[in-house]
Amino acid sequence: MITMIHDFVNLDTILAQENIAVFGAGYASRNLLKYAAKNKFYVRDIYVSDVEENPLFFMGIKVNCLYTTSREELTNTVLVVALTEKNHAGVYEIISSMPFKNVFYLCDDMIKKIAFFNEGSESVMSNVNEKVRECVEGCMFRYHRFIQKPCLEYMIVNILDHCNLRCKGCDHFACIADEKFFSRDSIYKDLERMAELFDGDYIIKISVMGGEPLLHPELLQILQDVRHFFPYTTIRLTTNGVLLLQQKEDFWRICRENKVTIVNTKYPINLNFEEIKRRAYTEGVVFRYFEGTGDDVVKQSFKKIINLEGDSNPVESFSKCHISNYGNILLEGKFYGCPFSVQSYRIFNKKFNQNLRMTEEDYLDIYKVNSKEEFFEFAARPKFYCRYCSGLSEPFEWERSKFQMSEWV
Ligand code: SF4
Ligand code: SF4
Repeated sequence: MITMIHDFVNLDTILAQENIAVFGAGYASRNLLKYAAKNKFYVRDIYVSDVEENPLFFMGIKVNCLYTTSREELTNTVLVVALTEKNHAGVYEIISSMPFKNVFYLCDDMIKKIAFFNEGSESVMSNVNEKVRECVEGCMFRYHRFIQKPCLEYMIVNILDHCNLRCKGCDHFACIADEKFFSRDSIYKDLERMAELFDGDYIIKISVMGGEPLLHPELLQILQDVRHFFPYTTIRLTTNGVLLLQQKEDFWRICRENKVTIVNTKYPINLNFEEIKRRAYTEGVVFRYFEGTGDDVVKQSFKKIINLEGDSNPVESFSKCHISNYGNILLEGKFYGCPFSVQSYRIFNKKFNQNLRMTEEDYLDIYKVNSKEEFFEFAARPKFYCRYCSGLSEPFEWERSKFQMSEWV
């Protein structure tokens, strides 16, 4: 029997295992490998049935012949067959006669979804000099900000404002936020409405975060609610990890049963990251660090500079922004284009007695819109609030906040 991969939840769970190999060295596998690289999944090998007709390396990964690989190696290998469905029958018999640990096949729809996912990061420039490449890729990056997508790539569900770490210059303004939890009931209602508008699909990734989500007393119910309304979506719990080792059995079980990926941002703090990772693996929960999977990966901090005058060109800021048309956020019945706008409006203004203005252009009232297409159009449109983004960000060494306005201006 062929086990097909139909959605990103399934795909991520499979790719997160050890000893992953991909069968095929064509269009589908190229896209699958790009997806894996972008999401920091490690693919060990490529397999093909005939090495004569294939390169020795494909996308930098060694290509092996299925017939000449040792049975011992195959026994350890989880194989993802990256071929279009019309080619499955041709390889099924060979592959099923081999002692793979597990075999999964991508369905055609999934191949298309992966190709779409990769589209934003695609580079068509391989043979031009560095300057031209930079210039063209810069233009493509900007151009893609304005392209309406046929689904939402990413949506943050903001469940609280505050945080137990309080990093300097936090771009969700959690370090200067008062304690504020959003209730499970209100989040449930918003998720239900989003699922109604999106038919429970068309959102590729949802990240449950804040602030620090592990502080929320109703976190486990919220995670189950997200999975209930979005059965095909990759769900991430984005955390600083400080409280992970204190979590009880229930937490790990709910993450496992609801296929929640824990994304731990690795700050340079005294935390036993190895132990956290080990615990997640032992509990059968997919785990990764925010900006990579390597042990030496540490979060790079950036000061995102606010233009208090509000006289930046919004189209220009939006075109240069790394989260425009991507980092949408759901909060109290409204859908915003980015956490920076709504959280600086709510938190920064209050803390420093400022008057950054927000208009109806900056959000959708999810109870007033009628279709998912309105979200795709909204996401790809520059917002009024983009005039407060200077377009500049400066890297700095991570430290705790001193709660001063200069951390953002
Ligand atoms: S851990 Fe994350 S949310 Fe908390 S203050 Fe630091 S950057 Fe902000
Ligand atoms: S306000 Fe506009 S430019 Fe600024 S972070 Fe949000 S989307 Fe990007």
